[in-house]
Amino acid sequence: MKVLLGTGNPAKLAEILAILGAIPGVEWVSASHLGLPEPKEEGETLEENAIIKAVTYAKRAGLPALAEDTGLEVEALGGAPGVLSSRFAGREKDYAANNRKLLELLEGAENRRARFRTVAVLALPDGRFWTSEGVLEGEIAREPRGSGGFGYDPLFIPKGETRTLAELSPEEKNAISHRRKALEGLKPLLRVLAENPDLLV
Ligand code: IMP
Repeated sequence: MKVLLGTGNPAKLAEILAILGAIPGVEWVSASHLGLPEPKEEGETLEENAIIKAVTYAKRAGLPALAEDTGLEVEALGGAPGVLSSRFAGREKDYAANNRKLLELLEGAENRRARFRTVAVLALPDGRFWTSEGVLEGEIAREPRGSGGFGYDPLFIPKGETRTLAELSPEEKNAISHRRKALEGLKPLLRVLAENPDLLV
């Protein structure tokens, strides 16, 4: 069974592939490989955006599609940037500017609690879909540290850690991440679909 991985972000794609690993009977295909454009993220929540992405990709490709949407939710900012995480400072995916803005807004703040939340969705070409959520609790560092990962990783210290996510190895990040927790919830379903292709029609 071919399954489309619906993300145009190479760093995310690498993490998703490492986390899901080999599932018997599943062959991963990337959206860029099929030349499919990324659907517009016009939803108001992570859930809506993840569903839009997975359902649109599944319909366009005629294949089961897996997509996810992730946001950083900072307690002292009332849950911002949340669904706006990728364009927090204005421009899409400007990681350095987003991190600078976050540090400015939290300057002097004692409460630096934050969490990453991922909603992962597996959709079928007929529009059926399943969702799974993963959360990683932590806090925002006072300055960026580390060169691994992407996005807000240099500023995020997971609960129980002293290092930021960008200071962890890819294996260490993938073992505890929001993305891992969300994707683990869909693995049993992927296994069942791969073993029973008749469920797809
Ligand atoms: P997306 O809309 O799900 O692609 O993600 C929104 C933004 O959240 C990205 O542009 C990144 O800045 C940030 N982000 C998503 N996942 C992670 C992560 O695992 N670590 C750090 N930042 C992330």
